[in-house]
Formats: sequence, structure tokens, C-alpha cells
Amino acid sequence: MNFRTEYMQDLMSRVEKNHPAQPEFHQAVREVLLCMEPVAQNHPEYIKAGIFERIVEPERVIIFRVSWVDDQGKVQVNRGYRVQFNSAIGPYKGGLRFHPSVNLGVIKFLGFEQIFKNSLTSLPMGGGKGGSDFDPKGKSDNEIMRFCQSFMTELAKHIGADTDVPAGDIGVGAREIGFMFGQYKRLKNEFTGVLTGKGLNYGGSLVRTQATGYGCCYFTDEMLATRGESFVGKDVVISGSGNVAIYAAEKAMQLGGKVVALSDSNGYIHDPEGIDLNAVKQLKEVERKRIKEYVTTHPTATYHEGCNGIWTIPCQIALPCATQNELDKEAALTLVKNGVIAVAEGANMPSTPEAVDVFLDNKVLFAPGKAANAGGVATSGLEMSQNSMRYSWSFEEVDEKLKGIMKHIHNNARAAAEKYGDAENYVLGANIAGFLKVADAMYMQGV
Ligand code: GLU
Repeated sequence: MNFRTEYMQDLMSRVEKNHPAQPEFHQAVREVLLCMEPVAQNHPEYIKAGIFERIVEPERVIIFRVSWVDDQGKVQVNRGYRVQFNSAIGPYKGGLRFHPSVNLGVIKFLGFEQIFKNSLTSLPMGGGKGGSDFDPKGKSDNEIMRFCQSFMTELAKHIGADTDVPAGDIGVGAREIGFMFGQYKRLKNEFTGVLTGKGLNYGGSLVRTQATGYGCCYFTDEMLATRGESFVGKDVVISGSGNVAIYAAEKAMQLGGKVVALSDSNGYIHDPEGIDLNAVKQLKEVERKRIKEYVTTHPTATYHEGCNGIWTIPCQIALPCATQNELDKEAALTLVKNGVIAVAEGANMPSTPEAVDVFLDNKVLFAPGKAANAGGVATSGLEMSQNSMRYSWSFEEVDEKLKGIMKHIHNNARAAAEKYGDAENYVLGANIAGFLKVADAMYMQGV
């Protein structure tokens, strides 16, 4: 898709020039600016106030050295990041990613997406993201602890319950959040809700672990209902086997679907009988092993090297829950040929722009990550509320709120899409609905 207005084309060119060699960031900005063309036409005051120029520029970028000592006594050096992208509607909020692919452009794309996602939840959270190129794979618990402590020693200077509230993302789960929270407390002598995704015994919220995956299925269910469909009797293919994928699989099964495939960064498992989720949980959450181990105990399943092949498995519902740009045009065409009716992104930007076009052109119900996976950060927002109240809600209470939020995001995105063209274009709807709240706040707060 190309820009129709000179104004947006010019802004996009400047973003490419001013933020060189950051392809993921450009991709995320381009998608949003394309959707903003009709909004700019309706809101000349936003152009006058420079809202579009300002929203694509992070308020603050922090880059820092993280040195730590490995189990052999050798000093290791990694790079840490925190991008505080936009605080118009609340303190910066967004996860931390520990993965060797992390660089400034990746964190900026994630922080940018987070602005609109957090806005869609209707909770008061600005957008931010952080992380490191540290690779947790193969590290001992002690190495993970020393890394997390060193990382937090610097990050602590820049965050706070009313300033910036990080959480988990790829490579950062309950164990890492615990180590970082401990270090923050040691440094600041303060027990506050400075991180979310905390353990249940020290301020965490019930349902936070399940929230991204569950929320993704609640959103999918809402989309399916608009066509009189549901999960019941459908084959579901889910990429990934981390926290998002596992709980998307759990909810898809509870809603009557059959999950036939999961993956990790080495390959995928296919079990036409339906995946045994308890076995996967044991492998990934407890033993921290590779997904291929699954087939040694499950003879109906096969293991395949490489990740792309997962999209050749026929299914009616596909949930990409692994990482950015994991689903390309060819994969999208194969899914369409095999009869997919709904695709919802549990990961951030897992479909390439060409793949998204294939889904939209073929009338597949397509939910972009910033809407479909917003349940995670929404439940982080609920964790912040509970921390502020010094109180905690039951599993059922949080789950009900999550369900309500996902329904609201669906309806809000659909209404915005309808107003600006096509009710089933959730990409357009999510971007516009997410943008308008932030833009209005920025406008009212002045330059
Ligand atoms: N990393 C998650 C996301 O991409 C959750 C962020 C949070 O809970 O702050 O939205």
C-alpha cells in the first residue's frame, strides 16, 4: 500500500532518514501512518499541533551498559535499553525483552506499538519498551540473577510506579521479574508496583500469566461471533510455546477448538489428535526444554525442523504467538488456500505487511497484535490498580474484567473501522481508535 497524501509520505521519508537502519521501526510507523491519512483529513488541528510528527519520536531513549560475571568468572557485557515513547495518557508502560535479536530499532518498534495498544485497553498507560541483547538460553539461574541485578542497577534510575512500569516480554518471565524487583527494592528501599508480572505472593495479579493468550482468544471469539462462528470444532494452529502461546492454546481448547500445532525457534510439533497441553507446560515451564522433546512421549505427533512450515498445516484459526515477521506472504497465501477464517496476532507484528494484505484482500478476520494481544498489558494495568489499592481481586474478578476489556477493544476498533471505511478492517480500526485518545491528550496538553 502507498501513501495517498504528500503530507504522510513526507513524514514517513523523514522518519526513515532520521532513524536509519531500523527496519522494524519503519514498518510499524508506516502501518500506523497509512491508517492515519483519513484521520488527518478530519483533524486539521492535529496537523497544526504537530501531533503526527511528535507521536513518531520517542520522548526519551536510554541505552546503558550491563556488565555481569558468568559462572566461569568471566566478565560479560551486554547492552540495555529503555525507550520511553509516549506519556500523554499515563506513565510509560511496556515489557522488557531479553533476546539476542534486540537492538534499538526493535525496541522502538515495540515501544511505538505499545502506545496504541495501551490506549486501546482504556486504562491510563503510556507507551514504553525495553530490553537487552542478552541471551537467556543455556544460562544458569545464578547467571540470570546476576544479569537481572546488573540490568536493574541502571534501569532503577529511570523507572518508578508513577513514571515507568516495565513488565515481561520474550525472555522475561516470573523468574526474571522477581530478580529485578528484588534488586529495585534493595536499591530504593521502596515496595511499590514498579514492575508488573510479579509473583502472587508479592503484589502480582491473578490471571496476569494467562492474560495475553486468553485475551487473544477472547478477541478472536468476538470476531468470529460477528459471522456467527466460534472456536467449536475448529482446528487451531499456534506458533510459539512461550507464555502467550501456551495460554492461547489453553483458552482455545476451553472454547471448543482443537490445537494441532505449537513451535519454538527450532521447529514445530504437529499432533492431529490435539496437543497435550500439560505435557507442553511441563516441558517449557518446568524443565525449560525444547519443544521437539514432546514427540518422544507422544507417538501421534511429529516434529519438523524450521518454523515456516507450521503455516502449511490446514486450520481454520491461526494464532501467531512467536515473534515479529514470522508469517510472510507465502504463508498467508497457504493459510487462505487451506481455508483459514480467522488470524489473531498474539505476538507483536508477527505478520509481514504483505501477509496482512493477503488476509484483508481475502476477507479473513484479521486481528492485529495491538488489539489482539492487549490483554497482557491490560491485566498489567489491573495489577497496577490492585497495587495502588493494596488489595487483590480473585481470579474470576480479573478474568471478567479482562473479558470485558477485550470485548470493548473489539467493539471500539470495529466502530472506528466502520466510521473510516470498512468495519472488518481491524488494522485500520485499532490504529485509529488507539491513536485518537492519545492524540487528543497530546493536543490538550500543549506543545
Ligand atoms: N510485553 C507485553 C506486551 O507486548 C506486556 C507488557 C506489559 O504488561 O507491560 O504488551
